[in-house]
Amino acid sequence: MKILSVNAGSSSLKFQLYEMPEEKVLISGLMERIGIENSFYTIKVNGEKIKKEVSLNNHEDAFKALVKELEENNVVDSLDDIKGIGHRVVQGGDYFDKSVVIDDEVLSKITELSSLAPLHNPAAVIGIKAAEEVFPNAVQTVVFDTAFHQTMPKENYLYALPYSWYTDYKVRRYGAHGTSHKYVAQRANEILGRTDTKLITCHIGNGASVSAVVNGKCVNTSMGLTPNAGLIMGTRCGDIDASIIPYVMEKTKMTPKQIDEVINKQSGLLALSKKSSDSRDIEEGISNGDENCILAQKMYVRRIVDYIAKYYVEMKGCDAICFTAGIGEKSVDTRRDIMKELEVLGVKLDAQKNNVRGKEALVSADDSKIACYVIPTDEELMIARDTYKLV
Ligand code: AMP
Repeated sequence: MKILSVNAGSSSLKFQLYEMPEEKVLISGLMERIGIENSFYTIKVNGEKIKKEVSLNNHEDAFKALVKELEENNVVDSLDDIKGIGHRVVQGGDYFDKSVVIDDEVLSKITELSSLAPLHNPAAVIGIKAAEEVFPNAVQTVVFDTAFHQTMPKENYLYALPYSWYTDYKVRRYGAHGTSHKYVAQRANEILGRTDTKLITCHIGNGASVSAVVNGKCVNTSMGLTPNAGLIMGTRCGDIDASIIPYVMEKTKMTPKQIDEVINKQSGLLALSKKSSDSRDIEEGISNGDENCILAQKMYVRRIVDYIAKYYVEMKGCDAICFTAGIGEKSVDTRRDIMKELEVLGVKLDAQKNNVRGKEALVSADDSKIACYVIPTDEELMIARDTYKLV
């Protein structure tokens, strides 16, 4: 059965078509600058990478271009071969604790939750509607990035704020990257050969979060109401003293929108290093003795270690720490720095094993008290698996 996995952004569309249950990728690609001038897409099919510059005025155009590629590359005999389309949705609020088939009620709830994910949820709705037009016979499903975190106990998702903010405005911790944390936790349990495990999953990419997972269920996570909580990220500040915001707004006369821009797009590694949000540039700066980059890395690692230590105590132990996403999979130095800081918990680095990029591997020494793994994430595959089950 063919299942299409879709991740729609406001001006982009990432897709991957699978043959299920074999989990074989038939074609994948990314369409960019949708609705903007100079739109283009890149696709991978039959071992070849193709880039095409075409006008994509909206998401429906993007799906039509995708159909054209499917037909021209003989990936499907008929469009009806695609039985299910799974859409990634960032914010499912506390309405959804699992993936669901789309109906009018689901769509209206995703739209209602747009105020909690203004950049992401409206884009997903546009993608869903366009897919329904172009693939009318496929079952459409949604996979929520917040769903995996819905198992958190109340003491971990509530903020110490007036309770009416929670009941009236839905202010609580929802978490993010749930599809990735779930995939990595499942894979770690497969590697460990059991499901009664205590895991700490570190999704550290441009956005970053850490989760505590007991027996396959999330019990805590570092992202909050929005994806700007917890860790220091590429351009996001993560945890700060909440009162900094009104203080600086008074001083600078910034509007809520302006200050939101600063804490989301001009902070994090970029602000600390005064150079770049990309950890490759930070690593290069460190090797050239750049003091700002050295400080940025120290603070970046410190925050991750703080969360790992917190979850270690909360879970009363930990079987494995898993690293994933761009930095977690590819930054040998960041993993080394984190693991060195965790020596007090019995973590022992194996520098040779840790010298790995983008491949599944054990990176701790055999006598490390906590096993540390690199597990490359695969959110698209999780979306395809859930959609296949629902179809
Ligand atoms: P993601 O958001 O998961 O795509 O991760 C993107 C981030 O991963 C980039 O901004 C870099 O900071 C980081 N990254 C990617 N490749 C490498 C690499 N080879 N070494 C260190 N960091 C990397």
